[in-house]
Amino acid sequence: MTSLKIAVLPGDGIGPEIMAEAIKVLNVLDLPFEMESALVGGAAYDAFGHPLPDATLKLAKESDAVLFGAVGDWKYDTLDRPLRPEQAILGLRKNLGLFANFRPAICYEQLVDASSLKPELVAGLDILIIRELTGDIYFGQPRGRRTAVDGHFPGSEEAFDTMRYSRPEIERIAHVAFQAARKRDKRVTSVDKANVLETFQFWKDVVTEVGKEYPDVALDHMYVDNAAMQLVKAPKKFDVIVTGNMFGDILSDAAAMLTGSIGMLPSASLNAQNQGLYEPSHGSAPDIAGKGIANPLATILSAAMMLRFSLQQADAADRIESAVQSVLAQGLRTVDIYSAGTTKVGTREMGDAVVAAITKTTKG
Ligand code: NAD
Repeated sequence: MTSLKIAVLPGDGIGPEIMAEAIKVLNVLDLPFEMESALVGGAAYDAFGHPLPDATLKLAKESDAVLFGAVGDWKYDTLDRPLRPEQAILGLRKNLGLFANFRPAICYEQLVDASSLKPELVAGLDILIIRELTGDIYFGQPRGRRTAVDGHFPGSEEAFDTMRYSRPEIERIAHVAFQAARKRDKRVTSVDKANVLETFQFWKDVVTEVGKEYPDVALDHMYVDNAAMQLVKAPKKFDVIVTGNMFGDILSDAAAMLTGSIGMLPSASLNAQNQGLYEPSHGSAPDIAGKGIANPLATILSAAMMLRFSLQQADAADRIESAVQSVLAQGLRTVDIYSAGTTKVGTREMGDAVVAAITKTTKG
C-alpha cells in the first residue's frame, strides 16, 4: 500500500494533549502512515510571527489529509486580526479549497443524560450537518466601513458585508449532501431564508434542480429560523441538513450541544479532491489546558473520519469508532462527560483505553 501522508497540526491549548492521544490510536492500526507535525495558530505566531507559516501551509497542501487540534488563546486577542491564531483555520480552508464541512451530531446511548434536552428527544440522535464553508457573507465582497449615502441614517458611519452564492458553489455542496444522504437515511433538508433573501431563493432553486438527479433521496426545504426551532424540538426528524456558511456555523454549534459534550464531536472539511482537514468541533479550551483532563475523543473520532473520507480506510475508521463505543460502555468518562456511577479518567487514560479496545479486537 502506498503511504498515507498526514500533516499533524496540534496547535494551542489542549491541542497538543488531545493530538497525542489521536496519534497513539492511529499508530496501533498498522497502516503505512507518514506523519509530519508543524506549528499552527498561536504556537506558530510565537515561533515565526504568523499563525499559518508558509512551511505549515506547504506541508498541508502536500499531504493527503490534515489532522488539526485546536488554536487560540485569550492572550492573542489584542493582535491585529490577520495575526490571530484562528486565521490559520481560515487560511487553510481557503488555500486547500475546503468547501464542504461535515459536522455529525451523534448522541451516544451512554451519554444521553449529558444533553440539556430530555433523553427521549436525543437518544439515538444521528444527524449530519453539511455546511458550505468558503462562500456566503463570510467571504463576499465588497465589505467594509464607509459613510452611508442612504438608509436610515445617511451621512453616518456604517459597516456592510455581501451575501452571495454562485450556481457552481451551490451545485457542488448540494451534490455532496445528496451523496452523503445516500449512505444514510436518504433524506436531505436544505436550510435557507428564501422568504427574505435573494441569495437563498437562488440557493433553494439550485438545490431543487440538483435534487432531481437524486430521485432516491427525499428533499425538503426549511427556513433557518424554523430549523433552529426544530433542532431543539425534534432533532431526530433530521437526517442530512445542508446549508450556507453562516446558517451552518450557527446551526452546527446548536446541534453539537444536543449531544451533551462538545468534547465528543468530530468534524471534517473537504475539497473537491477529497483532501480534508479533520478537527474536533471544540476550541483550544485554554481554561483546562495542561491539566491532562481534556476529552480526546472528538479528535480521535476526527482521525476516524479522516481514515474514511480522505484515506479510503473505512475498516480502520470502523475499528476506532467501535473502540470509542466500547470505552464509553466500560463507563470511562473524562470530566466533561462525567456523571455519578461512572469512572473519571484523564486525557491519557482515555486514549490508552481506546488503544486497548482496538488492540483487543485485533487479537480477538
Ligand atoms: P472552547 O471550545 O475552547 O471551550 C468551551 C468550553 O468547553 C470550555 O469550558 C472548555 O474547557 C470546554 N471544552 C472544550 N473542549 C473540551 C474537551 N475536549 N474536553 C473537555 N472540555 C472541553 O471554546 P472557547 O472557550 O469559546 O474558545 C477558546 C479558544 O478556542 C478561543 O481562543 C477560540 O477562538 C478558540 N477556538 C478555536 C477553534 C478551533 O481551533 N477550531 C474553535 C472554537 C474556538
